[in-house]
Amino acid sequence: MNNTNLPESAEILRLALPLMSRFKIPVTPRNYAVWYEYASGSNLMLNQKIDHLINSGAPINNEFVSALYAEYIDTNHELSQLEKAQKIFAVLQDSITNVLNVAVGKTTEYGITLDHYNNRIKADLDLEQLQFLINDMAISTKIMLKNNQELMEDLNKTRSEVTALQDQLHVAKKQAKTDTLTELANRKAFFDELEELDRKGTLHSGNHSLLMLDIDNFKKVNDSYGHLFGDKVIKTVAKVLKNNTKGKDLPARFGGEEFIAFLPDTNRAGALAVAEMIRKTIAGARIVNPRNNKVISTVTVSIGITEIVPGDNIEAAIARADDALYCAKNAGRNQTAFADSSQPPVNRTPIATGAFY
Ligand code: GH3
Ligand code: MG
Ligand code: MG
Repeated sequence: MNNTNLPESAEILRLALPLMSRFKIPVTPRNYAVWYEYASGSNLMLNQKIDHLINSGAPINNEFVSALYAEYIDTNHELSQLEKAQKIFAVLQDSITNVLNVAVGKTTEYGITLDHYNNRIKADLDLEQLQFLINDMAISTKIMLKNNQELMEDLNKTRSEVTALQDQLHVAKKQAKTDTLTELANRKAFFDELEELDRKGTLHSGNHSLLMLDIDNFKKVNDSYGHLFGDKVIKTVAKVLKNNTKGKDLPARFGGEEFIAFLPDTNRAGALAVAEMIRKTIAGARIVNPRNNKVISTVTVSIGITEIVPGDNIEAAIARADDALYCAKNAGRNQTAFADSSQPPVNRTPIATGAFY
């Protein structure tokens, strides 16, 4: 994306969004980046590809836009697009203020005109002059009303643009933080949230715990029943994790078949209870293979938990939970293990104080 100034960016945005809506492209940061680039006309190759497809009449779908993104736009820009969009809102808000200022200016002007008529009426006028004055006033009033109407229209137009953009930005922001398969928070959203708590100093105040979960022998599940069924298992596990975490808890997909949850105000015993509820629910779940409607009864998970202690940092706490998870795997899977913070993390050795069955 070019370093265009903000009013210019707002203009490009105004061009990009109708195009996206015309081709029914969801307003995700990624899609938005491609169409912004197209509307700005700054990338000849990208424009040629899109124009070619438009001219051929072929449908423009998500996959096509994703491929363009991968080919032409630096992936690191994904979030800065959102930041840019936020700045564009500020420009639009400014334009509302401008419209209002013009309206106030015109109203003041009209007031001065009225004063002027008032002074003239006080003078000694004959009937013809008075008639003239009244006509003049009628014209000024009409102009004033017309100006006001135009300004109101401008204002309403800008306002609805801002509202539409805000809605779209809200959706785009939510999508950027959400894992598409499970609809849980994604890894980045999880770290953002924990870093925010760390900045606020609340990460260490209270009894918070961290839980890491990994599906057991998941490769085998994929190999035996197919990748699509594997996805279904991941979704089921995510649902159980979500159903067993509440309020301020933050469950997230950490990647692949691994999940993580931050459990605020939850000590070791509480975290263990949550973990065991999750583990047992999954072990007892009846997941149906849609290929033959048979129930798969062998999906289990291993869980590692740890408490967050004063002086901890996020990475160290995650490493401890991961060590506990490794310990649970080593001890035979389908179990929960706890890593004690008083013991220094040792690379991938079972430091957990106990495994619970
Ligand atoms: P362990 O009990 O030690 O965790 O064994 P595992 O087989 O679960 O672990 P491994 O890391 O060997 O394999 C994880 C597999 O998860 C490999 C990868 O293809 C699969 N996987 C990762 N992400 C996804 C996904 O989104 N969908 C599906 N279906 N499979 C995935
Ligand atoms: Mg696994
Ligand atoms: Mg894994």
